[in-house]
Amino acid sequence: MFKPSKYNFLIETSDNHLLLYNSRTSAFAAVPLEFSGDIQYLLTNPSRGTEKDEEIIKNLETGGFLIKPDIDELRKIRKVYDDYKNDGKKVILTMLASEACNFNCPYCFTYDKRGLNMTPWVYDAALKYLQKSINKDSQIKINWFGGEPTLAHDNIISFSNRLNQLTSERKLKKPIYTMVTNGYLMTVDKFESYVEAGIKNFQITLDGPESFHNKTRSLSNGRETFQTIWNNLVTIKSVKPNFEMSIRVNFLANMRQEIYDLTNKFASVFGADERFGIYFRPVYNFETNRQDICAMKDSICSMAEGLQMQLEYDLHAMEVLSKYRKKSAMPNPIPRAIPAWCETEKQSSWIIGADGLLFKCDTYVGRKEQAAGKINMDGEIERFQGAYKWDTDIYTAKIENCIKCKLLPLCQGGCPRLRMEGKKSCHLNEPYLKEILLKAHATHMNPQLNVAYN
Ligand code: SF4
Ligand code: SF4
Repeated sequence: MFKPSKYNFLIETSDNHLLLYNSRTSAFAAVPLEFSGDIQYLLTNPSRGTEKDEEIIKNLETGGFLIKPDIDELRKIRKVYDDYKNDGKKVILTMLASEACNFNCPYCFTYDKRGLNMTPWVYDAALKYLQKSINKDSQIKINWFGGEPTLAHDNIISFSNRLNQLTSERKLKKPIYTMVTNGYLMTVDKFESYVEAGIKNFQITLDGPESFHNKTRSLSNGRETFQTIWNNLVTIKSVKPNFEMSIRVNFLANMRQEIYDLTNKFASVFGADERFGIYFRPVYNFETNRQDICAMKDSICSMAEGLQMQLEYDLHAMEVLSKYRKKSAMPNPIPRAIPAWCETEKQSSWIIGADGLLFKCDTYVGRKEQAAGKINMDGEIERFQGAYKWDTDIYTAKIENCIKCKLLPLCQGGCPRLRMEGKKSCHLNEPYLKEILLKAHATHMNPQLNVAYN
């Protein structure tokens, strides 16, 4: 006996296929339209299947399109969230090694706020906290963030080495390190020393093509930065040990041709090196009073336009990269079920400010009144009253829109900050999901059954 999943999406294509997608399991399949009638019948009348339908029913069950009658899918989705939120085995510290920055981006949320470098006692306190809170099952993740973390290069290397020594002495899992940097100071020597210290996952942001990037991501003295960052990336290619470098490209509505050109340039330089990736995100807001930047506000994307363009650019990148890379190494734009929208939701995740103040959301960094706690010199964490507001989630708050939504597994209620501020937190919608699936099918990306979890 089976019942259909509440999270099924069925779409007929113009090339005579039926697309099946399940947002809870992320299973995605394309079947020829001649089977469509049988499948749609079995999905609505699973108990009426005969012996000849056994194989199809088995496949539909594997993909989570058909489920046992006693399965409560919402409870399962919530469990994925709760396990992520409450699992203390994964300890995530985002360390603001330098809240100061060598750039002067007019829209930056930490810009001009505090400009501090992390003081030595905060590094010591973070180590003490980790010492106390980990055991043999723990996985530590350290995100180096700022301001601009590379301004604190020596401290980052020193802290990482001390932590590596601690985990090695106690025979614990190696820490995972990531770094978000503007890339300007990332010479090959510095990069090699980070990789040697275990930092293997990097993100560098470009504000679109060179001409636009140089307007918004300039040095504090106004000088341009694009070419230096690009040159650094090119020299980093010579580094032998493995790493991952993601280039995030922010875009406005009026730069389509330039984004295509930049992607083609990326593919011609980095296409054959699978350690380098590229992805695209629309600019929705500048949050600045600077007149030259405000003048560009007409070019900011609406949410719908931004999502469309993001998909278009991601697919274009996949197309040009397919000349260099095998399919399995390509990014996959098909949305997948997630445990939570961001690390903010995790109880054991903290952003440690340069002076030991703790934050939950990185857009609040530098706003002392938004601090969620502080770390003390002995490595104890003190939660402030405001920290408790971050504990609320869509399940405990019983947010009906989300709980009833078929997209819930893909966003788990979306950005918690937007929810807290009473704003709409939807990032996806059903027509957009349908468009992604149709375009993915049209590029023959993922025609077979592909199950993420049940
Ligand atoms: S803005 Fe939203 S998604 Fe980003 S860190 Fe804050 S809570 Fe998370
Ligand atoms: S945030 Fe929006 S898309 Fe996500 S579950 Fe809630 S209503 Fe659905």
